[in-house]
Amino acid sequence: MLLRAVLMGAIGVSAAQAAQARDILVADQVEYKAAVKAAKPGDSIVLRDGEWRDAQLVFTGAGTADAPITLTAQTKGKVLLTGASNLRLGGSHLVVSGLVFKRGASPTREVISFRRDSKTLASDTRVTEIVIDGFSKPDRRAEDIWVALYGTNNRVDHSHFEGKTNAGVTLAVIRKAGDPLDNRHRIDHNYFGPRPPLGSNGGETIRIGTSEESLSDSHTVVERNIFDRTSGEVEIVSVKSGGNIVRENLVLSSQGAFVLRHGNGNLVERNIFLGNHVPDSGGVRIINRDQIVRFNYMEGLAGKDFKSAITVMNGVPNSVINRYHQVSNAVIERNSILDSARITLAAGADAERSAPPVASKFTGNLVSGAKGTDPFRAEDDIGGIAFAGNVEAAVEQPLLTNGVAQRDLQLERAANGLLYPTDPALAEVGAPRDLVPVKREEVGAPWYRPDAAEAAFGAGRTVELAAGASLADAVGASRAGDTIALAAGAYEVAAPVAIHHRLTIAAQAGAAPVVHVASGAFARIEAGGGLRLADLTLDARKAAADAALIAVGAGAAPNYEIEMKGVSVRGPGQAARLDGVVMAPGTFANAIELLGSSFADMSGAVVLGTGEQQPKGWYPVERLEIAGSSFIRVGLVADLLRKGTDESTFGPYVSMTGSSVSDSGAGDASLRLSGAQHSEIFGNSFENSAPLVVIHSVGKPETRIVGNAFRATPAPRVEELSYKGPPRAKLAGNFTEGRP
Ligand code: CA
Repeated sequence: MLLRAVLMGAIGVSAAQAAQARDILVADQVEYKAAVKAAKPGDSIVLRDGEWRDAQLVFTGAGTADAPITLTAQTKGKVLLTGASNLRLGGSHLVVSGLVFKRGASPTREVISFRRDSKTLASDTRVTEIVIDGFSKPDRRAEDIWVALYGTNNRVDHSHFEGKTNAGVTLAVIRKAGDPLDNRHRIDHNYFGPRPPLGSNGGETIRIGTSEESLSDSHTVVERNIFDRTSGEVEIVSVKSGGNIVRENLVLSSQGAFVLRHGNGNLVERNIFLGNHVPDSGGVRIINRDQIVRFNYMEGLAGKDFKSAITVMNGVPNSVINRYHQVSNAVIERNSILDSARITLAAGADAERSAPPVASKFTGNLVSGAKGTDPFRAEDDIGGIAFAGNVEAAVEQPLLTNGVAQRDLQLERAANGLLYPTDPALAEVGAPRDLVPVKREEVGAPWYRPDAAEAAFGAGRTVELAAGASLADAVGASRAGDTIALAAGAYEVAAPVAIHHRLTIAAQAGAAPVVHVASGAFARIEAGGGLRLADLTLDARKAAADAALIAVGAGAAPNYEIEMKGVSVRGPGQAARLDGVVMAPGTFANAIELLGSSFADMSGAVVLGTGEQQPKGWYPVERLEIAGSSFIRVGLVADLLRKGTDESTFGPYVSMTGSSVSDSGAGDASLRLSGAQHSEIFGNSFENSAPLVVIHSVGKPETRIVGNAFRATPAPRVEELSYKGPPRAKLAGNFTEGRP
């Protein structure tokens, strides 16, 4: 039975009463503060069910191992911390449980902090059955950490974290000079749910330390968590300290890898990585000394280079603390690496990273490449890695012939769902039989079910709109997932319509509607918005001032989508500058697709993503797809910029196929891709236009320009900003005629 706090009474209680543990129900922040002040070991402060808006809670106290002080919800899951809310912990033997952070963001740089301030850290404190769901700052560049672990002997368990879309690690162990470094934290049985690509560094799910203090041991344990589609950046778990254990986690369809980035003597064992062939899904990347990677199971990992199933990096001789220490004494033993694209050794070798791995062992591993290929690659001398007792599914010309036996490998699924060789002679090769994949019901807050995913395009009602009716009114009245179906005839848009949810605007069957956009500004994507346009004409020929046809506003939903299919856009030519999709800095699209559409007389860029000028690797769209479309007298088909040399991200991915560009090009380019990681330009025709320009800034960009026709158009230009050597691009089967 809960007792309502009688605060004056609480202050005046006798010693006998104080010894009695109490449940103190509090209804607002004033009562909460008083209850914290008065709390004694064994007490529970209970937040009344309901919404706690803009609650910046500070929870301090000194419990004991036998009688901690608890902060919890009247009903687990029924206390929602919304708006500008956060929680700071200081003291010892505190327990927090049952709270949900959603519909808001922390006003500070942390949501849950294991310190009240720089002098008051938390120790022996547990956060359990907590939810942080979508509690992201709207500008993805604004950085925060959802759970910041300071102090020692703290535990985060059975909690649920998903939907972080702004910069900053989901859960970080902070190790600052002057603070305790021998942390001994435990992070276990949590559900780390989907984290979409951030499009920059700072999208790690877990980080333990930073380079500065990385030569000391944290002794943090990360075990039996699920990482489900945690695809924020190349590091899912970034270990930047020594003596940690990462054990028995389950990683599902996630881009990136567990990375032993800094610090020595870490153990990564018995983890299960199931990539499901998701692009850039990786396993473990090894740097530094004395790292042990053993008994892990990896299947269907599609990642290459730094996202390989196993990556052993080259180091920098006499490396400074924040670069790459040479790999020495690594033990890579009895892992199963199956149906996976790559194992990359001496990875990242270049003029700076010139120290190959030494005194290391690769022993007893079971290997099969994806699609029957040999996954092994060596980018430098691998004489410092001793290979013994490994077995590889036979390939014709294996890279490694000593210590890696080629076998006709027969595998079957065991009761634990994992593949093992049928040959009893191979019982001691690859991952052990007693692995037990973590089950979903073992992790997270058992009472929490996330909101249903936002309605998909086309999932809602179809609203037919008669010709001449107000499109703005129809959009205003629409709900998520709806389709507004336009009739044959004309519509007017006087001011840009605000799109707040996923919305489709399409022609009714057989109709060819025309939307007159006198100002040129058709729509504005606001928070939560996404837009699909199909089979209609946007007529902006009368636009007299510069405009963006579709503007993506700052604070728009991260990871939004825009698709134009069968859309015809007519611009004002040189009378005013008209751009197509214009992305504000700080926004990020999962996909922008131009399919079977035509764009004419637009002197700006049809897709404009150059707003972010800081050289930090931010870019505006993960995937840009242009197919079967035509561009006539446009300034640029697309202008994309990812600036800087950060290596933490995957995209952008750009593909342009079966399209035509004529009489186009502002200045020196008709299509400019700067910093894209994957560019596929296949089967297009360029006529009487400025050239296609691809600028490589970082990483190992894959650029393929194949089977295009260039008539009265200069040949494509590929530039390298930092790589020394000839431009890295495949140009083949292109047809050039009447080259000016
Ligand atoms: Ca990173």
